[in-house]
Amino acid sequence: MDLWFSEYHTQDVRLSFRVDQQLCSLQSDFQRIDVFSSPELGRILALDGFVMLTEKDEFIYHEMLVHIPMAVHPHVRDVLIIGGGDGGILRELKCYPEIEHIDLVEIDEEVIEVSKKYLPFTACGYDNPRLKVHAEDGLKYIRHCENAYDLIIVDSTDPFGPGEGLFTREFYGNCDRALRDDGIMVNQHESPFYKNDAIAMQRAHKRIVESFKISRVYQAHIPTYPSGHWLFGFASKKYHPISDLGAKEWKSRGIQARYYNTNLHRGAFALPVYVQELLENVENVDETTDLNA
Ligand code: SAM
Repeated sequence: MDLWFSEYHTQDVRLSFRVDQQLCSLQSDFQRIDVFSSPELGRILALDGFVMLTEKDEFIYHEMLVHIPMAVHPHVRDVLIIGGGDGGILRELKCYPEIEHIDLVEIDEEVIEVSKKYLPFTACGYDNPRLKVHAEDGLKYIRHCENAYDLIIVDSTDPFGPGEGLFTREFYGNCDRALRDDGIMVNQHESPFYKNDAIAMQRAHKRIVESFKISRVYQAHIPTYPSGHWLFGFASKKYHPISDLGAKEWKSRGIQARYYNTNLHRGAFALPVYVQELLENVENVDETTDLNA
């Protein structure tokens, strides 16, 4: 019998993966957590029916959220991860021994436990003596932080359910305050292709632009995410993502990345015309637009 897992990218578009086994399915206090194994994509983590990562392509997302800011900021010592329960960001941060402390704020402890049990390729990031895990809401945690971090990585779910608060003006304003004077925030920034994703992206961008001196958007090709065209936000108080890129220094680290390199770094910020137009029009996005219309 054929088993398939389908994710609806819109009401009329879905992506299906053949699965050979469902390894886990549980309802936590926050969301439905499923893990599948599949012949093509390896293990798949889904939250509330949305793919968070697949074994085959998660390296793209995690490398792009970590190496882009780390190739720009010359002395990151303290890092805050909001979300990131699967551990993939932690794994990539291990490439930077100069980092002294990492706070990971994940609202759902069950995601951490499930990842440690079924996703060793990302959860390997948890064996890190410099790490402190906080099982709490990132929106609340950030309210008590000031001038504390060099880098904030927002590796959240989408802007509904538990992740909704992580796309608000309040949250971005508090991230700005939590960062040091030369701090950088990067975030998963949704996608430009389907209407609801594009509106969510525009809303997030509008709020980040209002909170940070420098705000740019970059992109990557992530096959298992809606449309495959995924965006990330780069917000900073001091550094420009391209003119302050330390390409020579990054290359001298000898990091064996599989997606990121310093040429791709520059190219990732060269956005298609329609995406530039969506970003330039953020002022016209009606805050009351119903995403589910
Ligand atoms: N790569 C995925 C993506 O782009 O959608 C995100 C992966 S990670 C699993 C997302 C994590 O954010 C989840 O573990 C979820 O529990 C966590 N999360 C959602 N809302 C949160 C909140 N308000 N505070 C902290 N963590 C949150």
